[in-house]
Amino acid sequence: MKVLVAVKRVIDYAVKIRVKADKTGVEMNNVKMSMNPFCEIALEEALRFREAGKASEVVVVSMGGPQCVETLRTGLAMGADRAIHVSTEIPLYPLAVAKLLRAVAANEQPQILLLGKQAIDDDANQTGQMVAGLLKWPQATFASKVYFGDKNDVTVEREVDGGLETLRLQLPAVITTDLRLNEPRYATLPNIMKAKKKTISKLTPEELKVEIKPDFKILEVVDPPKRKGGVMVGSVDELVDKLKNEAHVI
Ligand code: AMP
Repeated sequence: MKVLVAVKRVIDYAVKIRVKADKTGVEMNNVKMSMNPFCEIALEEALRFREAGKASEVVVVSMGGPQCVETLRTGLAMGADRAIHVSTEIPLYPLAVAKLLRAVAANEQPQILLLGKQAIDDDANQTGQMVAGLLKWPQATFASKVYFGDKNDVTVEREVDGGLETLRLQLPAVITTDLRLNEPRYATLPNIMKAKKKTISKLTPEELKVEIKPDFKILEVVDPPKRKGGVMVGSVDELVDKLKNEAHVI
């Protein structure tokens, strides 16, 4: 069974984001980039499927500019068998990524398509849902546990408000990963060296017969409002008084 994992290159979670002066987006120059944390979790899960003998091949795919190759190399160093780079300089938003993923899935015929539940840059949380819709495959989003059945199915636990929901899906299926699913491994030095020999194939949207046109326009990106400095209160009574009469929250 093949597992396809979509991995996105994003600004590292530890970087302090700076909005560009012209408000068109955030500063990307000389900023540390990494694999989106939810995609690391998706890849870790796929590697565990392979180690448990449930999957025979783990393929990572990333869409975007030439630097995506770096993210794919990280995926290969974590343990993926091979990688696909869908190369484009056009800014990509969830629907375009979903269409490209559908085309890659049509070529690769995976039994499971794993994605992060969201990319921490745009926080869209849309791609998994859209690609499942396009492929007409069942989907389980925000997975916190995945286990295989014996009837070509998987069972997925997902955290919902106030509890856990358990879904059984017929394969092929789309699964998006939540934070508690697993703790991703680090790429070890020997595996980083080995990854240099693994294949990264390159495709273009034209080769995949996907036309990319932006379906929305970002009008403005601004900093969040500055927080006012805090004040120390002398007693609980004073705190309650301030919450009631100044902040008007109780
Ligand atoms: P989003 O819907 O943008 O929040 O992204 C959800 C998930 O879709 C990510 O965690 C990735 O698994 C996948 N994804 C989004 N954009 C890309 C991309 N450019 N390349 C590969 N995977 C992507």
